[in-house]
Amino acid sequence: MSGTGYVYKREPVIFELSSPGRKGYSLPALDVPEPDLGQVLPKDQLRAEPAPLPEVSEGDVVRHFTRLSQRNHGVDIGFYPLGSCTMKYNPKVNEVGAGLDGFANVHPYTPEELTQGALELLYDMQNYLAEIGGMDAVTLQPAAGAHGEFTGISIIRAYLASQGQGHRNKVIIPDSAHGTNPATAIIAGCETVEVKSDARGGVDLESLKAVVDGNTLCLMLTNPNTLGLFDENVHKVADIVHQAGGLLYYDGANLNAIMGYARPGDAGFDVAHFNLHKTFATPHGGGGPGSGPVGVKKDLAAFLPVPVVGKQGDRYYLDYDLPRSIGRVKSFFGNFGVIVKAYAYIRSMGPDGLKQVSEDAVLNANFLMTRLKKDYYLMYDRICKHEFVASGLWQKDRSGVKTLDIAKRLLDYGVHAPTVYFPLIVPEALMVEPTETESRETLEMFADIMAKIAGEAKDSPEKVLAAPQSTFVKRLDEARAVRQPELAYRGDLGPGK
Ligand SMILES: *Cc1c(COP(=O)(O)O)cnc(C)c1O
Repeated sequence: MSGTGYVYKREPVIFELSSPGRKGYSLPALDVPEPDLGQVLPKDQLRAEPAPLPEVSEGDVVRHFTRLSQRNHGVDIGFYPLGSCTMKYNPKVNEVGAGLDGFANVHPYTPEELTQGALELLYDMQNYLAEIGGMDAVTLQPAAGAHGEFTGISIIRAYLASQGQGHRNKVIIPDSAHGTNPATAIIAGCETVEVKSDARGGVDLESLKAVVDGNTLCLMLTNPNTLGLFDENVHKVADIVHQAGGLLYYDGANLNAIMGYARPGDAGFDVAHFNLHKTFATPHGGGGPGSGPVGVKKDLAAFLPVPVVGKQGDRYYLDYDLPRSIGRVKSFFGNFGVIVKAYAYIRSMGPDGLKQVSEDAVLNANFLMTRLKKDYYLMYDRICKHEFVASGLWQKDRSGVKTLDIAKRLLDYGVHAPTVYFPLIVPEALMVEPTETESRETLEMFADIMAKIAGEAKDSPEKVLAAPQSTFVKRLDEARAVRQPELAYRGDLGPGK
């Protein structure tokens, strides 16, 4: 095997390190009178016994968590081609920016005259995103893409209601869409209507015409979509929806494919979200924190959540004066630290750099797709954007090796698996997004590994079926891990229980 990624070390994990009486801290002696807890706390909230916490030294704790962290795959360790997630390298200069005292330690209640720098950054960020997306106004509040979707749908509803169209409640969503699209539409109180994809993977225009009507609130579209394919009919799609009186929502999760080249606002979209933790290089995984700002066209700007950041003369201020605002969607001003990191990224890349990002992301994806298509079935064999969806169908039909097995085998070679079984319209889907930050050597390495696994699936399928062998844990019961996770320390279990 020519150079592989990071291969995991395999010592056993010992979780129970507690030793009675051992301490990881020493507090100074109390120099005030000790309160009687029975006097200051309600009786029913007092513990009868001290909490059964692990008793460990500082060194034990640091080693335990550092060891665990080394057993995780991360973008700082190796290739992470998780389709739709844009797991690009996160430049460390972003962390330096977010760690500056004036950003990291500013209290959200600090008066405006003392936080002009932070407000300026938020103000500029609103403008940068508006420019990148072709929008007129932006809120930075939403905490992630899905939250942006919810915010955007709420804004569209409020706007249409102000136009006497409050009855509209149907959200049209292509069958290739990410699961958050229907989920957020439902949470926002709407009904969803699915529209089919055509043979090229785009929105089927006839099906779209058949489902739009006087109850259409909006269409939610990802472009390029989750197949990594750019819908060339996007202007026609926009016209069909607009003619029916509905609006267009742009799911910006795939902006990394077109940034600097095309803007959703120019293609007819009225509202768009940005995933700062994808396109703009802030870390993600493990559930957050993310940031999902939303941009809108000027007719919808009056409905943005409050506050937005305004500027009068040289002074930045928090503008609460939006009488038709949908209200707050998050406490304070969004995930500020994430916004600072994305700001640092935008400023360090500059307009030409951002354009180069999409160019390289698309080049890398097409390079890999071309290398893989000899061994893996491609349902949509056409030039892709920043990602593509291959399939394990040939392997499954020939030797019973499924996409899940291929994904597990990849772990043995030290790379993270692509997204699997999504989008739902491709059987045995393997959704690969290499991102622009990977070198040619890494792409070659991944292509070699994929070719090798295709060979194994043919000649020694048992190897693939029994994978992974080199990781700390073998195959997990993934359903149980999701449904019955055990996340809390249970001192009562004791060592080895
Ligand atoms: C990631 C993603 C989302 C959801 O964004 P989050 O920031 O994870 O909430 C929505 N649509 C698509 C296509 C995505 O890839």
